[in-house]
Amino acid sequence: MSQQMAYFEGKFVPIEDANLNVMTHAFNYGSAVFEGIRGNWNPAHEELYLFKVREHIDRLVQSARILRMNGTYDADEISNLVVELARRCDYKEDMYIRPMVYKSGLDIGPAIHSVEDKLLIYVRPLGDYLDPNAGATVMTSSWRRVDDTSIPARAKVSGLYVNNGLATSEAKQNGMTEAIMLNQDGHVSEGAGENLVMIRNGVLISPPQSDNILEGITLDTALFLASEKLNLPVERRTIDRSELYIADELFMTGTAAHVTPVTEVDRVPVGDGQPGVVSRKLQKLFFDAITGELTEYESWLIPVYGE
Ligand code: PMP
Repeated sequence: MSQQMAYFEGKFVPIEDANLNVMTHAFNYGSAVFEGIRGNWNPAHEELYLFKVREHIDRLVQSARILRMNGTYDADEISNLVVELARRCDYKEDMYIRPMVYKSGLDIGPAIHSVEDKLLIYVRPLGDYLDPNAGATVMTSSWRRVDDTSIPARAKVSGLYVNNGLATSEAKQNGMTEAIMLNQDGHVSEGAGENLVMIRNGVLISPPQSDNILEGITLDTALFLASEKLNLPVERRTIDRSELYIADELFMTGTAAHVTPVTEVDRVPVGDGQPGVVSRKLQKLFFDAITGELTEYESWLIPVYGE
């Protein structure tokens, strides 16, 4: 029987018992950093594969460093806790793991350097975040992406996600699937929960790390697969909004969203308005990789039950 559990204050507990004091710094000031890790269920293998756990935990530790977290967070130890928690939950479906390091102090005041911090991890079932087949319709948000001079977007900071939330709600309330955010310079940064890739003349192009994006693990994987398996050139460079209207293909990448083709930007169809050929090929390759169907990439996966 599956059970939703958390790792909280040093123990594995049922999710109902993982509760925070209302005075917690992270709750008052958004001072937590987090990750999302996918567990992908393969019914034929009867196996749950966790994707790139170590990469996610390395990014968590980097985010914690940017937020001046003081605790010592050992990436191997946290990775082991993630796998152990997943095993204890016993899910036989697609799921999602959320490790967080949060400022657990109870004092008033926003300073972050002198506040105690702790690790927590929770798990939940999670099916498709975006419809993988329909193709996403997106709009350029009127909300600009936070700048590295305000809140660094390369750190996955809880409070920063108010920026993403404003953009997501604007898009959804306007009948779109997702928002694309421009940075303070007016260049394309990323989706509200995904990185963005544009294809023009057979080249895959994505904004550089310095354009206020999260340094996406799915993005890295998709660009790697494009280069290795499809022999396509890959480029990181600044993208203008108007280029999105003349792109041959667009797709978004993210732990929750996987590889999702974009079919419309600001009501302008992308290409012929259908999910692009390369986007769909990459989507399939990525899906096969994360579900353990591509043995050459099994080092990306941790099988939860079969180890
Ligand atoms: N950008 C933002 C703002 C995100 O929240 C996410 C999801 N983590 C991504 C990009 C994609 O990153 P990743 O592929 O590492 O999940």
